[in-house]
Amino acid sequence: VDANLPLAQLNDVMEKTVKKPQKGDSVVYWMRLADLRIHDNRALSRASEYATKQDIPLIALFVLSPQDYIAHDRSARRVDFTLRNLVILKESLSKLKIPLHVTSHSPRRNIPSFVLGWCETYGARALFANIEYEVDELRRDIQTCKLAIPKGIQVNLFHNKCVIEPGVLFTKQGKAYAVYSPYQRNWIATLNANLPYYLEECPMPTGNAGSVRSSEKFASLFDSPIPETVEGFELEDGDRRKMCEVHPAGEEVAGKLLDVFLHTKSRSSQLGAVNPLADGSQKANAQTRILNYGKDRDRVDKDTTSRLSVYLSSGVLSVRECVRATMRMQKSKKVDGGRDTGIGRWVQEIAWRDFYTNIVASFPRVSMGRPYLEKFASVVWENHQAPQESGTGRRGQDSDDAEVVKRWKDGKTGVPIVDATMRCINEMGWVHNRVRMITAMYLTKDLMIDWRVGERYFMQKLIDGDLASNNGGWQWSASTGVDPCPYFRIFNPHTQSGKADPTGEFIRHWVPELRPLRGPDLHNPSESAANKLGYPLPMVIHSEARERALRRYGNPGEE
Ligand code: FAD
Repeated sequence: VDANLPLAQLNDVMEKTVKKPQKGDSVVYWMRLADLRIHDNRALSRASEYATKQDIPLIALFVLSPQDYIAHDRSARRVDFTLRNLVILKESLSKLKIPLHVTSHSPRRNIPSFVLGWCETYGARALFANIEYEVDELRRDIQTCKLAIPKGIQVNLFHNKCVIEPGVLFTKQGKAYAVYSPYQRNWIATLNANLPYYLEECPMPTGNAGSVRSSEKFASLFDSPIPETVEGFELEDGDRRKMCEVHPAGEEVAGKLLDVFLHTKSRSSQLGAVNPLADGSQKANAQTRILNYGKDRDRVDKDTTSRLSVYLSSGVLSVRECVRATMRMQKSKKVDGGRDTGIGRWVQEIAWRDFYTNIVASFPRVSMGRPYLEKFASVVWENHQAPQESGTGRRGQDSDDAEVVKRWKDGKTGVPIVDATMRCINEMGWVHNRVRMITAMYLTKDLMIDWRVGERYFMQKLIDGDLASNNGGWQWSASTGVDPCPYFRIFNPHTQSGKADPTGEFIRHWVPELRPLRGPDLHNPSESAANKLGYPLPMVIHSEARERALRRYGNPGEE
């Protein structure tokens, strides 16, 4: 890794923390936002091994950081999902006699000293955590290591988010990849050559001795409550109920959902609108979703994809387990997992997740509001004032209250597939990849609104909001990113609509006023049909908007 990158600096400074710590009274596992599981969790597993070897208790800490959530535009839904998972985790860890203490801390710049102070309070000489690759988080960990050195605390950080961690794969010229296909080929080859390392199944923590529960020092940690909410991130009752129903928390749910995807077929009526596990009638089937994924994955009128992003982005499910499960399936069912099969295609999506995480770690500026392709930094947007850029969070003044943006957010653009998508996101906190692309391209190319406005809105609404994948998706659609959609390949939203939703079920579900329409009319209602049904007319004419986008991208800086 380039020595100037925060990830490289972190590696260096971590090495400098004390080599052989004194035994101490305990070991601390610092659980993070994308870490929410017990199974197959590197830092937790290693912390447990260390505690067992030293014969001292393992204790766990989770620090809620409202300032970070504001800086990263975290959705209240994701924060609530975190709290719901923490409740389950606290109970499961308690059964292993490992206490999980959840607390909130501000200002965020003091979190390193707060955590180290906590370690000292409990006599810990070794701290274990999994790495988060966003630049603010890397800087926080660098600071933690620096402060840990004089205190004699050893900091042990692990890669756990990806199958192949950032900073491992390089082009032949030794550069970070900025194009997906060669990255993916190297990814597969490296994975196959090192399966035991990259697909390691980390042992479950063994748990503490019973005496920890009754000890004076640690007992109160077992009883410390988990906050019901984080100030500023409260969910309305109705929304919370909906999120609990549609995206239930817990590792068990995530495991079942993976099974459903691998072993049952898709159902046309569900449209991702309900708890995917609610239908108890699902039976193992030869035509399972994953096997059909190669041909069906872009269909949004059926639940053709796994919906695991909710659990992967929060780390409730191990990405290594996803890949291992596909390998087990290939063996036991004797099915092909080659490049163009459903399994092969799905694993390539997992590689996209690694790719975008590698991008954020290798080119941190993309997560600071900069386009990867600097030549497009001066494209003229309709909302003139772009969000402010800063190294420590990107919440700025943007003019995203403009009527045009408001209609896009509310799903009232007059373009059915875009409106269905936005209403689905607003209600569900999740939507299918294909329509994320369509609506993102519509905002940036048809409406010529700065991609950062859309990126931010998605983060604020999605329950699976992940900086790297969201930024990657937005910069792909806006043609400003690594390996993006070329700027002159502008989606026609009506044609795209017919391909993604051929039965029209997705649109009819989310845009009920259009239910009487069928066929092409549903994808592009005539003026008279729209007026009759009380549906808005489009804000722009696609062919004209396309010309405007081509002009502005072709001559950045000019109107
Ligand atoms: P499946 O099709 O079952 O894929 C399996 C897993 O692979 C996903 O769960 C996800 O972890 C990963 N994956 C699939 N597609 C992509 C992709 N294009 N990029 C990166 N990872 C991928 N994904 C997020 O997890 N969080 C986001 O905030 C996010 N924002 C996005 C914004 C835009 C504008 C776009 C175009 C895409 C975004 N994605 C994001 C990627 C993708 O849309 C979702 O991961 C996918 O829709 C999740 O559905 P699934 O779990 O059923 O995916």
